[in-house]
Amino acid sequence: MHRTHTCGELTINDLTKEVTLSGWVAKSRDLGGMTFIDLRDRYGITQLVFNMEDNEQLCSEARKLGREFVIKVTGTVIERSSKNLKMPTGEIEIKVSKLEILNAAKTVPFMIEDETDGGDDLRMKYRYLDLRRSVVRKNMELRHKVAHETRNFLSSHKFIEVETPVLIKSTPEGARDFVVPSRMNPGEFYALPQSPQTFKQLLMVSGFDRYFQIVKCFRDEDLRADRQPEFTQIDCEMSFVEQEDILNMFEGLFKHLFKSVKGIDIPSVPRMTYADAMKYYGSDKPDIRFEMKFVELNDIVKGKDFKVFDDAELVVGICAKGCASYTRKQMDELTDFVKRPQIGATGLVYCRYNEDGTIKSSVDKFYNEEELQKWVNAFEAEKGDIILILAGNANKTRKALNELRLEMGNRMGLRDKNTFAPLWVLDFPLLEFDEESGRWHAMHHPFTSPKPEDIALLETNPGAVRANAYDMVLNGTEIGGGSIRIHNKELQALMFKHLGFSKEDAQKQFGFLMDAFEFGAPPHGGIAFGFDRLCSLFAGLDTIRDVIAFPKNNSGRDVMIDSPSTIAQDQLDELKIATKN
Ligand code: ASP
Repeated sequence: MHRTHTCGELTINDLTKEVTLSGWVAKSRDLGGMTFIDLRDRYGITQLVFNMEDNEQLCSEARKLGREFVIKVTGTVIERSSKNLKMPTGEIEIKVSKLEILNAAKTVPFMIEDETDGGDDLRMKYRYLDLRRSVVRKNMELRHKVAHETRNFLSSHKFIEVETPVLIKSTPEGARDFVVPSRMNPGEFYALPQSPQTFKQLLMVSGFDRYFQIVKCFRDEDLRADRQPEFTQIDCEMSFVEQEDILNMFEGLFKHLFKSVKGIDIPSVPRMTYADAMKYYGSDKPDIRFEMKFVELNDIVKGKDFKVFDDAELVVGICAKGCASYTRKQMDELTDFVKRPQIGATGLVYCRYNEDGTIKSSVDKFYNEEELQKWVNAFEAEKGDIILILAGNANKTRKALNELRLEMGNRMGLRDKNTFAPLWVLDFPLLEFDEESGRWHAMHHPFTSPKPEDIALLETNPGAVRANAYDMVLNGTEIGGGSIRIHNKELQALMFKHLGFSKEDAQKQFGFLMDAFEFGAPPHGGIAFGFDRLCSLFAGLDTIRDVIAFPKNNSGRDVMIDSPSTIAQDQLDELKIATKN
């Protein structure tokens, strides 16, 4: 027998028991005639003690053990003289009578400690060692819990988990496909699913009614912004539902996860239209942990000979509470911030409402105090506040002000990781215009249903057509999105036409789905949550890599197994593939 207990289990209640433990040597210290070893496994750490006086040979053997040796010990549980009440096993230790080395270990490349000396690259190369660190393991435990509670909740609401294939045909989620050559069909390729979208819709046609799957998806996109080429979704679909049914069901899931995993009660999730999100926050994923809403100023600032404002499509600002005392240097930093190429503003106008009641702006030449008072009123600013204003092209200016708002949120400490502010964003546009291709693209995906009352606009004003599409946003991050689907062949064909597909192309790529719609397709809709992102937010982490056991680096590479890699010539020959090099 390798163990009677785990290393996280024994307490003062187990005194005098004879036990056997197995695990890794985390640390050892020699103190006079004694040797103490911290024995680690997944469950915790238990202190072992060896004594020269009691058993010289055993103690000398213990002194030779290196870090990360795998050992098995038998001994008696005794009370510690100096207790460590911070750990569950901290009141006891094991007086060892028998020691067996199960496996030796080379010197590990970094310390297996919460605070390790290993850099990122090294830890990724030896990820299996990194996963031994309890901070990393805890993230995986949390991930397991979220998955488990997801399954509990959805199963209890009659959802069934159905696996869909991985070798499929392109699914249009807006990224590039990963493709897999078919040996049996030379010159032909499978695509890996960007999501199981078409399959889950087909399952609705099959009458499955409530489907979910915790599923891997693959998207070949640039990996900036904390993305992974393969990631996990909680993918769901329901039949005979309207948007309201979906929002309620998945708000339920969301609340259940918060309660069961984090012990937090989430009150009902507020809702905002896409149009309002853009108007008041300049983003389709507003961080509503703090207010600082946009206020548009066109009506009160124009016509005073300040060319920047007069020429601008939009003049819009935010009011930062209590920041009137920002120094010159701080204002210069903010100006530099908005002028960064990624943000792209040409400058920042500010207006201080000082504690003494005076109002001073960076454009005093054009606006006297009476004019500035109008600004203060528009923002409902109070003494001590500062107003920050950007101007220019409407879309760009909103985007830039969104960045500035988030930056101010950070500076003012308003974005606490332990505060959770979810939000539904509703009524997304159906289509968005892509400058590069000069065409309309589906904002969500081509199966999303337009709002019935907007269908007529498809011909005349495609950009104004709203979709029955929704996103769930948490703390400024999109964590899920979905839509009510088209379930009728004619409407689906019309949609493909508007997306620039020829009849033949639409038939070739999605004929199977349109055919299915002719055999009794129920009204249906669904949603998918980004599982990795949800876990990382639950864990208070900044990157999804930390909740993935074996993640890829920024170039999509797994440095541990060294993949991607070249393949042998005969494999290429078999696949009838020639590579250029
Ligand atoms: N397939 C969609 C996605 O991956 C989600 C959905 O519409 O259900 O974003």
